[in-house]
This record gives sequence, C-alpha cells and structure tokens, in this order.
Amino acid sequence: MNNRKKLQDQVAIITGASSGIGAGIAKALAAEGAKVVVNYSSSADKAEKVLKEITDAGGEGFTFKANVGKEPDVIKLFEETIKRYGTVDILINNAGLQNDAKFHEMTLDQWNHVINTNLTGQFLCAREAIKEFLKRGVVPSKSRSAGKIICISSVHEVIPWAGHANYAASKGGIMMMMKTIAQEYAPMKIRVNSIGPGAIKTPINHAAWQTQAAYNNLLKLIPQKRIGEPEDVGGAAVWLASDDSEYVNGITLFVDGGMLLYPGFEDNG
Ligand code: NAD
Repeated sequence: MNNRKKLQDQVAIITGASSGIGAGIAKALAAEGAKVVVNYSSSADKAEKVLKEITDAGGEGFTFKANVGKEPDVIKLFEETIKRYGTVDILINNAGLQNDAKFHEMTLDQWNHVINTNLTGQFLCAREAIKEFLKRGVVPSKSRSAGKIICISSVHEVIPWAGHANYAASKGGIMMMMKTIAQEYAPMKIRVNSIGPGAIKTPINHAAWQTQAAYNNLLKLIPQKRIGEPEDVGGAAVWLASDDSEYVNGITLFVDGGMLLYPGFEDNG
C-alpha cells in the first residue's frame, strides 16, 4: 500500500495563517505532508501557536511576518521560503479583512485598505508564486502540476452585500483575477482556483455567531443549519492543492453549507 501523503515534500505559503481559515488550512496541508509557511502581519504569538500545533502533530514549517499589501514584504516572504525550502509549490492566498461602512459614508481610506489587502495582496503573492512555478516547472515526483494557487474568495464574489461594497468588490475582483491567470498559465501546468467560503466561525465575523440570537439569524441563510468551521475549508484546500483535482482549473469551490441555494425560497419563497 502507498502511504505517501497527498502533499508530501511540497512547500506551501499560507497568508494570514495566524488565525481562522488560514490557520485551519495550514494545519490541514501540514497533516498531508506539506512544509508550511505560516504568514502573519502582526500577531507573532498567535502564528507561533499555530506552528506549535503543527509541529506537535509531526508537521514542519516556520512563521514569517509580511504585510501582503506591501510589495517588498511579499518579495521577502517568497525569498525566505525559497532560501529555506528551495521552492514554493502551493500558495494559499488567504489574508483578508473587512472595514465596513454604508457606501455613501465610506472613506477612500476604508475602500483602499480593503482593496489593497484583499485584492492587491493576492495579486502580489500570486505574481511571485507564478514566477517561481515558471522557473521550476513540473517535478513529477511531487505533483503533476508546476504549481497551485488557491485564492480564498467568498460567497460575496457573487452575492451582493449592502454595507460592505469594498469587501464585495475585492472578492468579485479576486474571481476575475483567478480565472484570468488560470487561463493564462494553464498551458504551463499551473493551476489556479478559488475557495468561496460561506459563514465560517472565525474572528472576522464574530458578531454573526457570538450571541444565540445572532447565530439563529445567521442560520436562516444556511440550508445545512450550522456555521462552517476552518476545518471545512482545510479539507477543500487539500483537495484543490493535491493531484486529486489535477484536471480542475479556474473554478470557485464554494464551501458554504448551501448558502448560495437561495435559502429564502426554502419554504415556497
Ligand atoms: P481572520 O480575521 O481570522 O483571518 C484573517 C487573517 O488575515 C488574520 O490572520 C489577519 O491577521 C490576516 N491579515 C489581515 N491583513 C493582512 C495583511 N495585510 N497581511 C497579512 N495578513 C493579513 O478571518 P478569516 O475568516 O479566517 O478570513 C480569512 C479569509 O477568508 C479572508 O480572505 C476572508 O475574507 C475569507 N472569508 C472568510 C469568511 C468567514 O465567514 N470567516 C467567509 C468568506 C471569506
């Protein structure tokens, strides 16, 4: 029997991995044999805690501080990874934030902050990853692809979201960037896909689940009647990063408990 793990000997950078979905994905990839770079922007202690859980479970990795919205930081993140581990095989473009306001009250700083982190940050990281994938090409002993990028988008790449125009625009932008680079680099065996989470229990949306009343309200939007956990997204990321999905390119895999199924129509509309 072949006991080789699905991501054995591959190197994965996970941005914004000190909490929530990023931490869940880092743990899931490490459990499948990937060496993981736990990127964080400010919370070194939280990133170290995530790494300790990974190493305690027999995994390998290191933490690295970088603001994904800053080009020199992103370049250093990739340089350090390549210096330590020789290459990068998988990029999880996960770092993201919200800065909500009614549209007519939204400041340019609020708009720019969210677009710069959520969309420009994914551009900067994807560009460095693709440079490395093109340079290295396919290593058949590791994977049938020259590299894999997984963009963490949102159901809000398709569902409009009042009061969050900057966030929804960033996620819609990620969708077209992802599809465009998937098309551009598929001939070079680079795969680019997105995961569109629904409501996942993390710090970003604590207001939506921290009280019973808020949680009950949230469940009206989720046909499966439970909030998602970071592990739900971790499993999807492992699949998209592994050769199990080798013929999958340019899609968004929604991990949302059915949120996109128009739950308002559940009871005859
Ligand atoms: P989170 O707040 O726990 O995680 C976001 C992470 O990104 C944090 O660790 C934060 O420090 C990091 N980050 C923010 N700005 C950064 C920067 N400039 N450079 C590097 N790191 C930075 O929230 P989460 O829910 O885990 O969010 C992860 C991703 O999932 C985000 O892109 C978010 O939009 C997306 N998402 C989350 C949900 C959900 O319900 N939780 C739903 C859809 C999409």
